[in-house]
This record gives sequence, structure tokens and C-alpha cells, in this order.
Amino acid sequence: MTVRVDYLVLGLGGMGSSALYHLARRGLKVVGIEQFGVAHDRGSSHGDTRIIRKAYFEHPNYIPLLQRAYELWHELEQESGKELFNPCGLMVAGPPEGAVIQGVHLASRLYDVAVEKVSASEVTARFPGFQIPDGFEVTYEPEAGFLYVEDCVRTHIECAERQGAQVYFNEKIQSVTISDQLIEVKTEAQHIIASRLIVTAGAWSSACLAEINLPLEVVRKVLFWNSVEQPGYNLDQGKGGFFVDMPYGEFYGFPSLDGTTVKLAEHTGGELVANPSHLNRELLETDALAVSRFIGEVMPDLKPDPVRHATCMYTRTPDGHFVVDRHPRNPRVVYGAGFSGHGFKFASVIGEILADLATEGHTTHPIEFLSASRFDEL
Ligand SMILES: Cc1cc2nc3c(=O)[nH]c(=O)nc-3n(C[C@H](O)[C@H](O)[C@H](O)COP(=O)(O)OP(=O)(O)OC[C@H]3O[C@@H](n4cnc5c(N)ncnc54)[C@H](O)[C@@H]3O)c2cc1C
Repeated sequence: MTVRVDYLVLGLGGMGSSALYHLARRGLKVVGIEQFGVAHDRGSSHGDTRIIRKAYFEHPNYIPLLQRAYELWHELEQESGKELFNPCGLMVAGPPEGAVIQGVHLASRLYDVAVEKVSASEVTARFPGFQIPDGFEVTYEPEAGFLYVEDCVRTHIECAERQGAQVYFNEKIQSVTISDQLIEVKTEAQHIIASRLIVTAGAWSSACLAEINLPLEVVRKVLFWNSVEQPGYNLDQGKGGFFVDMPYGEFYGFPSLDGTTVKLAEHTGGELVANPSHLNRELLETDALAVSRFIGEVMPDLKPDPVRHATCMYTRTPDGHFVVDRHPRNPRVVYGAGFSGHGFKFASVIGEILADLATEGHTTHPIEFLSASRFDEL
């Protein structure tokens, strides 16, 4: 049977759940299809928490988007009555001349983001449990914090459904055919003709948008939960998140939510994944080496061996910036991809932008720097 739909969202993870919500909230008839369950752990949007911050060292162009992302997360909290964002603050440490610390200062200067410089003599008192290497600069962003990642995805979907969105879970889209005139999608159960298609397929983006040939690579990333030996990292004692730029990699983590473990990971590195559907989720012997070294040098009050892990994927672009654009052949197909391991905090505003692109063909958000045309020369 062939079904006709106005707006179809392919993939209901971080970005797709938000696009679904923004389309539904505009009173549009939207259908979402997801190959796994609600807020599942097989893609890139799981593992309890995601850092959110505005002193964006990756590029200051992201800051206007972050300002809107913060507003939208707060609106979603109000609409749903759920706590999604925890403003616990974030300590960032690294060499003063390094790209991370320099980027924090640039962002703070250009957009007036509140960032405190923490003097060497204050570090121990303010961040007990951290041994910051000599010569590092330490900053603190009080308005940063974390998002409860699965709750954010679930809440976007629930609020979208409440406004009329129709969703299908555990249904894989097997083929997408895009021509100038037609958008045709097939699952095992349905043959759909869509007027507009929003592709938010995460690590599966290359497969779903094969003809665009975006330069994306998927890497395997492991998150760790390590036991606390001394109670100095607890959220309920006012502790926050951290991001440390070490000579051998960038490491980040969260305050202890349960008083017994801290979640942390390496942001850099990761092995290439040939097929995201066959990601190895077992803990390999080499997985925890860099994080254990970081713990030994910087967080001595944690035990070096993890008690829990989760495996996740980053979908990276060559320059580490997202791709949010319209399909070159059929502008009624829009997509968000290549979130390069730092996209979740933006999910609220990316959903709004994708809804703008799908309905109006353009957006007032400043996203020119995320256009696919920057890869034309590659
Ligand atoms: C370990 C880790 C830590 C991170 N930490 C942070 C952080 O602290 N802060 C931050 O801002 N960001 C962080 N990120 C990045 C952020 O989580 C991702 O950028 C974001 O979640 C990507 O969302 P997405 O919607 O693109 O992908 P996903 O959430 O994976 O969604 C894609 C969805 O599409 C579905 N799909 C794909 N193909 C099909 C198909 N054929 N049919 C049906 N459904 C399909 C998938 O099943 C999936 O649900 C982290 C990422 C990882 C992996």
C-alpha cells in the first residue's frame, strides 16, 4: 500500500526527534520513522549526559545557535515539566596557548560569554580531586552544564506526539529514492511518497544520502564510568563538568550523579567504523588506556579501571563542523549530518532550523558556515 505524507523525518535520534517536534509544533502533518526504539543506545544519543556550553572553542560562529539552543531547551523543560538541563558549570583546563583555551577566550570576548579565569592558587580549593598540570590555564564557565540525553530525545518525541506527530519505531527505512519530482521511501511495512523529507540519520547518513557523497567518517567512541575513591566530584556538592586539553588527547567528563561513579571519556581519537550496524560494543583491552592514564595524572581520586562502559559513534566531517543543508537536486529534502562528536547540545535549535528549511526553504539562523558547498573542492 502506498501512503502519502506531508513531512517525513528519517531517524528519531538527537536531531530527528527535535525536527519532528518543531514540525508538529507548527501544526504540520509529520511522520517520523526510526529503525530502533525510543532513545535507544545503538546510535550517537545515549549514555546519560551531554555537555552544553557557550564559550565555544570549536568556532565562535556556533554561539548565536547556542543562544537559541539554550532558550529552546528551557522552553521544552517548561512545556514538558521535566528537568532536561543541569547548569552545574564547566571547568576547562589546558596550555594557555592551546586551541582550546584560546578558543574559550575568543568566544567569551566576541559574545560576552561569562568565563572566569581561575588562578593557580584557587584551583585546588575550587576543584578538589583534580591535579591540573603545571603551567596550564584553568577557566570556569558558570552557565555551562549538561543535558540528560535520553530524556531530551524522549521528551521531544512525546511533545511532538502530543501535537499530532505520528511515529513508527523498530521500522528501518530500506530505500530512499530522490528525484527532481519525487521523494519515495520504503520500509518492510510501508511504501511512502513524501512531499518533504528530513534526513537525520546520524552514523547512517552516508547510506541514506548516498548520492550526495558527503565526506563523512564514523568512529567508535567509548564512554567510561569509574568508581570514586574520595567524595569530591559530586553534583549534589556543587561540582561541575570538566574538559582538559592534555598533550596526548582531550578528555572530558561530568560530576558524579550517583556519588559512586564519574563518567568520563576521550574526545579525540577513535577507530573507523566500516558499518554502523555492526559496531563492536564489547570493551576492548586498549579502549581504556588513554582514559586510565588521564585519571592517573589528573583525577587521582578515581579508580583507573572502569566499572561500566557504553559504546557510541561520532560522525565526523573533515573540518569537524556540522553539515546542515538542502539536497542539491531536490530542495524539498533537507538534512543534518556530520555532528562530529559535539552536536547534541544543538539538537533543540537544529530541529528548528531543519523545520525552517523544510517548510520555507531557508532559515534566519546563521548557518552559512555549515553548508555542504564548503566540501566542493575536496
Ligand atoms: C560518546 C559520545 C559523547 C558525546 N558527547 C557530547 C557532548 O558532551 N556534548 C554534545 O553536544 N555532543 C556530544 N556528542 C555528540 C552528539 O551526541 C551527537 O552529535 C548527536 O547525538 C548526533 O545526533 P544525530 O541525531 O545526528 O544521531 P543519532 O542520535 O544517532 O540519530 C540518528 C538516528 O537515525 C536512525 N536511523 C539511521 N538510519 C535509519 C534508517 N535507515 N531507518 C530508520 N532509522 C534510521 C538511527 O537509528 C538513529 O536513531 C557525543 C557523542 C558521543 C558518541
